[in-house]
Amino acid sequence: MMTDFPNARPTASHFIDGTYVEDTTGAPIPVIYPATGETIATVHAATPEILERALASATRAQRDWAAMDGTSRGRILRRAADIIRERNHELSVLETLDTGKPLQETLVADATSGADALEYFGGLAADLTGTSMQFGGDWAYTIPRPLGVCVGIGAWNYPTQIACWKGAPALATGNAMIFKPSESTPLCALKVAEILHEAGLPAGLFNVVQGMGDVGAALTTDARVAKVSLTGSVPTGKKVAAAASAQMKQVTMELGGKSPILIFEDADIDDAVSGAINGNFYSSGQVCSNGTRVFVHQSIVQEFLERLKSRVETAVIGDPLDEATNFGPMTTQAQLDIVLRHLDTARAEGATVVTGGIRIDREGFWIAPTVLSDLTDDMTCVREEIFGPVMSVLTFTDEDEVIARANDTEFGLSAGLFTRDLTRAHRVVAQLQAGTCWINQYNLTPPGMPFGGSRASGIGRENARMAMDHFTEVQTVYVGMSPVEAAY
Ligand code: NDP
Repeated sequence: MMTDFPNARPTASHFIDGTYVEDTTGAPIPVIYPATGETIATVHAATPEILERALASATRAQRDWAAMDGTSRGRILRRAADIIRERNHELSVLETLDTGKPLQETLVADATSGADALEYFGGLAADLTGTSMQFGGDWAYTIPRPLGVCVGIGAWNYPTQIACWKGAPALATGNAMIFKPSESTPLCALKVAEILHEAGLPAGLFNVVQGMGDVGAALTTDARVAKVSLTGSVPTGKKVAAAASAQMKQVTMELGGKSPILIFEDADIDDAVSGAINGNFYSSGQVCSNGTRVFVHQSIVQEFLERLKSRVETAVIGDPLDEATNFGPMTTQAQLDIVLRHLDTARAEGATVVTGGIRIDREGFWIAPTVLSDLTDDMTCVREEIFGPVMSVLTFTDEDEVIARANDTEFGLSAGLFTRDLTRAHRVVAQLQAGTCWINQYNLTPPGMPFGGSRASGIGRENARMAMDHFTEVQTVYVGMSPVEAAY
């Protein structure tokens, strides 16, 4: 039986120059509801003509927007935040249809997180300041200038949040943004664009164009684009950063990870289990910063695994639109296949499946939350990003040993640790090579906190005041106050 979700059908594929735009000559992109595998809508990839409209309107609109005072820009962003909150339920349902994530999550984590970012950067927009320096009688000052037209390219796990986390600081600082969602989740960013314009954003400043990687690549290399902010995998990040750098464009890269959570012998075990659950199974494990390598002190591993297994097995798995459900499907068939392949490899390499490890027998892209143990650091499931609900539990006995093992990865996105020893917490966190760390907590990302990765996990940071720097460049002005001396 086909389920009809009329609200999932977008008005049109693209949002350009303040209005929805359709062009069915581009390749069709089916929107598949992951909980059933049904196609619930179709959008079309942007053609070169569509991209030209997006680029031309953004370039034109950005000049006046940059000239507007920050308070006025910020007011529009804060109004958009209010509209998002008013429409939270409808937007959360759309996010669930786009990604398959349970409504229980999307009601509190997606549109609301987007609204938080718009509110935060809306407030900061009036506070875009430079500095001044004294050089004897002469002096210099700096002015933060917007970069111009910026491109945002999103992954499929947080389509509303990613559009807002990129759009809010870009717009607050006087830039225009052209956003390309993942082809797997094209719906939510259109609503963000619609709401921004309903809030008063002038036409052309937040355009959404659909397409596959080639559309992202065409935007990245267009001469009118000053910056590219990508959320995606490390291989795509390397390609996009290289293409942008070849033209001296700025980049922000939010990429993948294989983050560690260290659980010491004195940790509150229930807190640690909760942190490991949140850091592995939220959004069915499709979270870049997940702590998928859980290092547990040998003396408590048995108790940790028992409590973890019994709690994971109480997860309500089912209809994502039922608010009682707390675990949904994978977002795509392709990602489900990747995770299933990883599970086969883990078994073949000797892993023990503590719980889960199987595809759930129903329509759609379902896999049970999985805990693996009896692992060594060289196993594939411990080294590679799986991007699914698969937690690897490892053991350790010594602090220096676990720090070295935690850092033994090409990634550096996040890390967490659980201990009641305050001194140890700060000593250990200072040695972890990760852009974002949590002590006795995991995966919370309020907009006032910088978020991002080191090493292969990325360049730059999203959120916090720092994101304002990443969407501006400093113009320095030297002011001579004395006669000019010359040698001849
Ligand atoms: P991908 O890297 O496959 O794609 C990311 C985006 O880039 C998509 O919109 C994709 O388009 C586009 N793209 C692909 N090739 C190019 C190209 N050559 N030029 C420009 N754009 C291109 O990532 P996924 O969508 O599969 O997302 C999962 C990954 O994202 C994981 O590694 C995860 O860790 C990471 N991620 C990182 C986060 C962070 O903040 N650090 C947060 C969330 C996810 P299309 O999909 O249409 O092909």
